[in-house]
Amino acid sequence: MPSLPEPVEVLAARLADVDARIADAARAAARDPAAITRIVVTKFHPASVVQALHDLGVRDVGENRQQEFSDKVTLVGDLPGLRWHFIGQAQSNKARAIRAAASVVHSVDRVRIADALDAAAAEDDPVLDVLLQVNLTDDPARGGVAPDSVESLAAHTAGCRTLRVRGVMAVAPLDENPAAAFERLSTYADRVRAVVPHADWISAGMTADFVEAIAAGATHLRIGSAITGPRPLRG
Ligand SMILES: *Cc1c(COP(=O)(O)O)cnc(C)c1O
Repeated sequence: MPSLPEPVEVLAARLADVDARIADAARAAARDPAAITRIVVTKFHPASVVQALHDLGVRDVGENRQQEFSDKVTLVGDLPGLRWHFIGQAQSNKARAIRAAASVVHSVDRVRIADALDAAAAEDDPVLDVLLQVNLTDDPARGGVAPDSVESLAAHTAGCRTLRVRGVMAVAPLDENPAAAFERLSTYADRVRAVVPHADWISAGMTADFVEAIAAGATHLRIGSAITGPRPLRG
């Protein structure tokens, strides 16, 4: 495994700082910080960073590109209690690889992906936790199901034998106040719960907007650069 790009103390200090900010934001919203899962997004960073984060007590990490994800999972190997979250756009022809590596897939945004993940289950695979990614913009290229179709996607996915719908996921639009966008997301989460009552996860909030996400009820934050530092450039 490649060596850690920076001293572990630097990583530890950023992690502690973000966790303190999460706790403050939770208290400000009259929420229990313990009910919020902080996922550290490690994309573009070497596997050694995942190992170091695990040593620091991190149990939830996120990746957004299937090939990098699969390679990193192999390199990191079996770390006790570590959960890998796949947060990137999923392609149906990569469903088996994604399923083999992920504990949770945040990016089910069409029937085809739900069906591909379901069909990719191996005989002894556990049920896979999935979130329905909702598009908060008007641009279909941004990924996510259109809000109008969220109930039908929820109903379809809930009918997939090897998938368990846990809630919704979204990325805030670039050109809108994230607080307003996350308020809409919480109404889409309600719609999903009308179809799948136990689906109470809301995956929202990144480095720039996790405070607003917590205020709007996010249960899972996906935080990259505030913890891992700036992403190394990739060719
Ligand atoms: C990269 C990424 C994040 C983390 O972004 P930061 O701004 O570095 O915190 C969160 N969610 C998704 C879907 C991402 O691709």
